[in-house]
Amino acid sequence: MLEIFQVEVGMLSNFNELLADTESGQAAVVDPAYQVDLLLREAQKRGWTISAILITHTHPDHVDGAEEMVQATGAPLYVGAGEAKSAQAAAPSARVIPVGDGDRLTVGALSIEALATPGHTVAGTSYLVGGNVMTGDTLFVGGVGRTDFPGGDPRILWRSLQKLASLPEETRVYPGHDYGQSPTSTIGWEKTTNPYLLCRDEDEFVALRTGKNPPRPLRRQ
Ligand SMILES: [Zn+2]
Repeated sequence: MLEIFQVEVGMLSNFNELLADTESGQAAVVDPAYQVDLLLREAQKRGWTISAILITHTHPDHVDGAEEMVQATGAPLYVGAGEAKSAQAAAPSARVIPVGDGDRLTVGALSIEALATPGHTVAGTSYLVGGNVMTGDTLFVGGVGRTDFPGGDPRILWRSLQKLASLPEETRVYPGHDYGQSPTSTIGWEKTTNPYLLCRDEDEFVALRTGKNPPRPLRRQ
């Protein structure tokens, strides 16, 4: 059975997750940063072994703990092929495994599918597992990633968002940051409330995303 442990870490409100197959005790960690010791402790408490490191993209706040996690677990590091080099630079000891759209990896009994979701970065990747999707900085609760960093492109991000929006409505969204009203939501919720997903077409989205006052998620109190 799949169990997900989510924790907020660091000054930028990053989310980290452990995705575990509770039968075998094998687990994957998503974007380890800032508090690797906490992730290792939580895994140990539950009897989980971290056997895969999944990277949504290689901005520093998502790979800050990658090297430390590799050293502690020896687990291979999965990342979108176009960011394999920057992942290797962030985690020199890692066995980096580049992934492309539709690739599947196995963690215990879990089958995890990589979805190419570029646009925030050149090779941003979301990971789909058992009706849950780890969206990194592509899709937030009530928002979407910025496109003004190197490698960002609002038109490409729009297409990636359409891909996520085509997932079943009940798919649970685990974003890369705690920017919204709740730590997670669903694809159905985002499609009906997220101003960026309510855009009628690509041009409207690009205007909104690159405008002077882009909508920001409503943060929790
Ligand atoms: Zn980012």
